[in-house]
Amino acid sequence: MKHCCKEMKRQVEHHCVDHPNSEECPDALVGLFGSAYGLRIHDRGNSFFLIRHCPWCGAAIDRPKGARSSKSLFTVILEYGGGTYISQVRATNRRTALFAWLKLLPKERFPGIGKLATEALRRALTEDQVAVNGLKNVWCMSCSLRRGLALINVVQTDTLAG
Ligand SMILES: [Zn+2]
Ligand SMILES: [Zn+2]
Repeated sequence: MKHCCKEMKRQVEHHCVDHPNSEECPDALVGLFGSAYGLRIHDRGNSFFLIRHCPWCGAAIDRPKGARSSKSLFTVILEYGGGTYISQVRATNRRTALFAWLKLLPKERFPGIGKLATEALRRALTEDQVAVNGLKNVWCMSCSLRRGLALINVVQTDTLAG
C-alpha cells in the first residue's frame, strides 16, 4: 500500500515494543482504520478522527492508493416456505450487510416473514455464519421459523470504488 510521504508510512506501519497495542502508544498518532486514515484518540478504544489531509505533507488522503472502496455489494438470498427472495445491500462487511438486510425486511414484505420471524432472524444473525466449503465470499446460515427452516446465503461481490 502506498502512502503520501515517509512520515505517514512510518506512522501507519508504527510498531512499538513497549506498546504492542498501538492504541496505548503515545507515539502512534495516525493509523489506518478500515481503509480510512484517522487520528488516534487514546481512550483505550478504537476511536479515531477521520482525516482527509496528511498532517505532515498536506497531501489529500482520502484512502490509501490501491485500497478498495470500503463498501462491497452483498447479495442476500433467502429461501423460506417454498419461495426464494433475493435482496442486495451495500456494506463494509458481512455482519453489517446482514443487519442492513434485516432492516429492509419489513419493506420487502416476504411471505411469512413478519415481526416474529424478523426477530428470530435477528437472533440467528448474532451467531456467526458458516463459509460455504470451497467457495470464496459465500456464507450460509439457517434459522428455524414457523413455516420451517429459513436458509440464508450471503454472497459478497467486490466492486470498484464508488
Ligand atoms: Zn509506544
Ligand atoms: Zn504525507
